[in-house]
Amino acid sequence: DDQDELNHLRVLRLKDKLGTRQMPTAELALDGTVAHLVGGPSDGTRNITPMLTVTRLWNAVIAGAGMRRTLALSRDYATRRTAFGRRLIDQPLHQTTLAWMRVQHEAALQLSFRAVELLGRDEAGIATEEERKVLRMLLPIAKLVTGKQAVAVASEGLEAFGGAGYIEDTHLPVLLRDAQVLPIWEGTTNVLSLDTLRALQRDDTLAAYVGEVRRAAALAQDAHLAAIAREAIAATEHAVAWLAAGMEGPGIEAVSSSGRADLAVVEHGARRFAMTLGRSLQAALLCVQAQHDLDRHGDARGVAVARRFAAEGLDLLEEPGALLVEDAALAGDTPLDA
Ligand SMILES: Cc1cc2nc3c(=O)[nH]c(=O)nc-3n(C[C@H](O)[C@H](O)[C@H](O)COP(=O)(O)OP(=O)(O)OC[C@H]3O[C@@H](n4cnc5c(N)ncnc54)[C@H](O)[C@@H]3O)c2cc1C
Repeated sequence: DDQDELNHLRVLRLKDKLGTRQMPTAELALDGTVAHLVGGPSDGTRNITPMLTVTRLWNAVIAGAGMRRTLALSRDYATRRTAFGRRLIDQPLHQTTLAWMRVQHEAALQLSFRAVELLGRDEAGIATEEERKVLRMLLPIAKLVTGKQAVAVASEGLEAFGGAGYIEDTHLPVLLRDAQVLPIWEGTTNVLSLDTLRALQRDDTLAAYVGEVRRAAALAQDAHLAAIAREAIAATEHAVAWLAAGMEGPGIEAVSSSGRADLAVVEHGARRFAMTLGRSLQAALLCVQAQHDLDRHGDARGVAVARRFAAEGLDLLEEPGALLVEDAALAGDTPLDA
């Protein structure tokens, strides 16, 4: 305004961040700052949801992009670096490392771009009601699954460069620093796992998600892929049964009130639940891509990717509440009854 250009807004400091340094983050003080309501005085969370949709999806896309960059750099380095008398790219053990990075990247790419496709259909007004329900669940799931994959791949990528990966003037450490924010901002892994539970408040949302996995899985014709597709469906159905058992009676609507004692079991397993759903759809989508690559190009790389991904495990769920008491003791460092 005329008196104070910044409207009584003071920049206290620029934060000293681990990464994303190209984009400053400031600590601000608002003291007497004049503000105007841009919406009504209530429903703030609902009003901000469209923005969270975009930023969380962006996060998932960036996660995949970062993994691809790390993989490209690591692969290139492996063709130049000679250790123990041979190029790294020719060493079977190093090939395993690069193959693992590729698997994570392709799985992340499939999941995030399925979400991109669904959001595009939604924004174009052509998404079905079922697709909108899948999208609501897929957004937190895609963000949380790919965020974790991005950090793991960035870490492995730096290691693939050996000591050079740890040296700043190679500009490699920035890959890890920038990846580490992906599971934190726009909602941490745990907070998004709880959001996945909240998405179930709407009728049939989980059924729509199961349908999404089933539809993708049904496209797998090759024997190897069909087996992985069955595994993906089984893991998803286990997640449905796990949730029902964890709720022990109350309807799915009750999931929204996070923190209630009767929801402790479900909240305790929320991350495993969300990860299981995410990994199952990743596996099913990898099967679709692999089947396409087989049919169109006679190329079995997609099958190899899907097999490796599924072999890491799709179903991460434990018995509802089985580890709850133990986790509390381990987290709080309190004695555990034998
Ligand atoms: C570089 C950077 C830029 C940012 N920019 C913005 C911005 O522009 N705008 C903005 O609004 N925010 C911004 N943020 C904030 C960011 O979104 C939050 O830091 C992030 O969502 C985590 O929230 P928090 O810091 O309050 O952590 P907390 O909520 O305190 O979480 C701490 C830990 O507790 C866990 N946790 C919390 N609640 C639960 C629960 N109920 N059950 C289980 N575990 C739980 C979390 O998973 C986490 O591991 C930025 C953050 C960073 C790092």
